[in-house]
Amino acid sequence: MTSLNQTSSYPSDSIEWLKRLIAFDTVSRHSNLALIKEVQAYCESLGLEPVLTFNESQDKTQSKANLFVSVPASGGLAGEESATLNGGIVLSGHTDVVPVDGQDWASDPFKAEVRGDKLYGRGACDMKGFIACALTLLPQAVSLSKLGKLNKPLHVALSFDEEVGCLGAPLMIEELQQRGVQPDYCIVGEPSSMKMVVAHKGISVFRCSVHGKSAHSSLTHQGVNAISYAAKLIGFIDELAGRLADSDQTDPLFDVPYSTLSIGTIKGGTATNIVPNLCEFTFDYRNLPSMGTADILPAIKQKIGELNEQMQQVDTNTGIEIEQLESVPAMTDTESEALQQLIAGLVSSSARHKVAYATEGGQFTNAGIPTVICGPGSIEQAHKANEFVELEQLAQCDVFLNKLLETLQS
Ligand SMILES: [Zn+2]
Repeated sequence: MTSLNQTSSYPSDSIEWLKRLIAFDTVSRHSNLALIKEVQAYCESLGLEPVLTFNESQDKTQSKANLFVSVPASGGLAGEESATLNGGIVLSGHTDVVPVDGQDWASDPFKAEVRGDKLYGRGACDMKGFIACALTLLPQAVSLSKLGKLNKPLHVALSFDEEVGCLGAPLMIEELQQRGVQPDYCIVGEPSSMKMVVAHKGISVFRCSVHGKSAHSSLTHQGVNAISYAAKLIGFIDELAGRLADSDQTDPLFDVPYSTLSIGTIKGGTATNIVPNLCEFTFDYRNLPSMGTADILPAIKQKIGELNEQMQQVDTNTGIEIEQLESVPAMTDTESEALQQLIAGLVSSSARHKVAYATEGGQFTNAGIPTVICGPGSIEQAHKANEFVELEQLAQCDVFLNKLLETLQS
């Protein structure tokens, strides 16, 4: 049912909202502002005051924004009581989607299409489906707040640039902390088939630049071979990966129950008859929530120190540099027991899952907001051609969010 306050130009159910959200091409390399402005106007039509936090791109323009909006606990809609923003639950989703380049779609990825019992479109499951359900819930939360029945606030957090390293959410979390808004819990609606995911691994990406010295390949003693030294370091990192796999630091709830290291890219050399002076490679580290970069970096840096010494015996200008390119923290389940119990009562299975993909959940837990993942659709369909969400999953999510809203009522 559409409430009287709701402007008729906005959808009133999750399927219609999802169709509208998919129509915005929010591939991470593009601006998400059109989508954000639409949601901002919707929130304002409900009497809410969304807060936007912007990126700053290289040309100093603001091309992307996060949106955080709170339905305050009762008594706060006129803006008189900041305390009515504290506590409550955040529904969190990213607005960006992965590219469709080179993928073979049966329909326009940015024009949602319902075929049978599924809705197809880029972002259908990852993760505009959850956002659609969250937006659909807002008018009801506003009504409850006005009726004096909302005991704790309901927040919706929409981020940018999640798919390219969770770059947006930290700005939004920082702004919350500046305002002194501390929600009790967060639900990240990544596609989990509406199952409860309580933890995920962290991801750190590193680049090693090996600076050697060129020489003719017949005069190897005059050069420092950057590729050969890179190979020595890569060999060491692989050895370290083997040690992680054999260590007793494991968690059987993960498909891969230990932390992993993987070399991803390598480039170097210009011709077979030249001793190469540069080789660069990247690797990623996917750590269990109980581990961190401190469990691998000291050993790698020590090895680099040894190799640098050998290289610099030939030329003091040579050496290896390591830099961290990306870091998405793991999401731990150690702080979220009370939230897990709450969610277990609202979804069809109380089973706790742990997953390999990373989300913004770790950023929320690091900010002291216990978080779980629970959202419609399967991660199996994410990032692929003909991405879809089953309509039944959206319906389940609507029911779940309605029950969640009940827990915020007095
Ligand atoms: Zn996602």
